[in-house]
Amino acid sequence: MDNIPVLIVEDNKSHLILEKLALAENHYDIRTASDANTALQILTEFQPRLILMDLQLPGMSGLQLTKKLKANPKYRGIIIVAITAYGMKGDREMALQAGCDAYLSKPIDIETFSETINQFLKKEDQTSPV
Ligand code: MN
Repeated sequence: MDNIPVLIVEDNKSHLILEKLALAENHYDIRTASDANTALQILTEFQPRLILMDLQLPGMSGLQLTKKLKANPKYRGIIIVAITAYGMKGDREMALQAGCDAYLSKPIDIETFSETINQFLKKEDQTSPV
C-alpha cells in the first residue's frame, strides 16, 4: 500500500497539517490544495486514488467540486472522502448525493484516521480491481 497518490483539499492550515501528520506513517504520495481551483490545476497532472475533500472551501465548495469531478469520466473513479467541520444534520446526505464515497466529521481522530482511509481504499479495491 505504499505511495498511494492522495490529494488533500483543505483551506484550514492547521487541519491540513493534522491530516498530513495522521497519514505520514503510510507513505502516501500526498499533494495538497487550499481551494477547488488549485485542486483542479493539480488534477491535470496528478491522478490521486483518493481525495480528502473539505466541504467548506472559499469560492467553489467541496460539494460543487465533487459534483464536477464525478461528472467527468477522467476523475469519476477517484474515491472522494468528504470532511466537514460542522457535522450538521443533512450534511452526510448532501455529501453522498454530491457523489462523495464516504464522509468524516472534524475533528479527525489522529489515532485511527490512517486506518480509516486504508479501509476506504481496500473497499474500493474489491469492487474495482486495478
Ligand atoms: Mn474549510
